[in-house]
Amino acid sequence: MKQLIVNTKSSSYDILIEKGILSRCAEYIAQVIRGKKAMIITDSNVAPLYLDTVSKSLTEYGFDVYSHIFTAGEKSKHLGTISDIYDSLSEHDFTRKDFIVALGGGVVGDIAGFAAATYMRSIDFVQIPTTLLSQVDSSVGGKTGVDTKYGKNLVGAFYQPKLVVIDPLTLDTLSDHFFADGMGEVIKYGCIKNSELFSILEKVDVKENIEDIILECLKIKRDVVNEDERESGIRMILNFGHTLGHSIEKMSEFSLSHGECVAKGMVLITKASENAGITKKGTAEKIEKLCKKHHLDTSITKSTKDIAQNAKNDKKGSGDKLNIVLLSDIGHYLIHTIEKDEFAQFLS
Ligand code: MG
Repeated sequence: MKQLIVNTKSSSYDILIEKGILSRCAEYIAQVIRGKKAMIITDSNVAPLYLDTVSKSLTEYGFDVYSHIFTAGEKSKHLGTISDIYDSLSEHDFTRKDFIVALGGGVVGDIAGFAAATYMRSIDFVQIPTTLLSQVDSSVGGKTGVDTKYGKNLVGAFYQPKLVVIDPLTLDTLSDHFFADGMGEVIKYGCIKNSELFSILEKVDVKENIEDIILECLKIKRDVVNEDERESGIRMILNFGHTLGHSIEKMSEFSLSHGECVAKGMVLITKASENAGITKKGTAEKIEKLCKKHHLDTSITKSTKDIAQNAKNDKKGSGDKLNIVLLSDIGHYLIHTIEKDEFAQFLS
């Protein structure tokens, strides 16, 4: 088993990675949770696949197990779903001593985590991520929340889980589309901080080496989150490719996946920074090639001017300047400050 310890200002917890760990998850949960009652929160895609396995493990370990299933998809990420979860918890007399298990992808983790952060002013929760994106990214670091009609993740909390249990076997049931989605973030980690990971991704079969690849990604995420839990500084490097990526995602009205948009964003911003003489020549091409290898389409169909305009509007409260994450070379990030008005020019 592979193990990492996250140590933020607010808490410390383990990430456990092992094929098949799902059916034994309660053994590890029992070591960190004192409560008796578990509410497994999952969605309509994941429930038929893994709810029984997790439920059985917890029951065998003596926990009282309940479950709450909501309709899969980003459209469920709103306060109505949270309210339904509060009701489920209340109906079964959950108190602050009990806990929540988030079983599923990023949407489940965000929703279940936010419910845990707020029900009775917070109860414990455990993350069991089942998609590549949530395993390498969203299950670790304590960002929880929901969307409102005004935008994504506008309401939420920083709230860390008590444990993260990762079973790479759950990726076997992931569609190619969602696997590629997660690869966008995996490639991002290589770009910002690990050139060795980047070259591994160029050479090997990812699925055959998935445990090591997840571990390398999470080491970077762990180090960054340890240093900057609430995203006041260094945590922004995890947003490489995201400034433009979010803009592209929004302009596609979320018809493109997050990872695909991050891939497009990484290539576009790196082409620009190469032209500006900040990044080593050939870097954008390397990223583009690697994204293609992992079934991520990096082509851009909208004008860069519109993408820049959208991205600039999206950046809240940072005055006239934009901080953007760039690479000097593969594996080496830098933070570049630019006047907002010059951003479109920078991209063209
Ligand atoms: Mg992301």
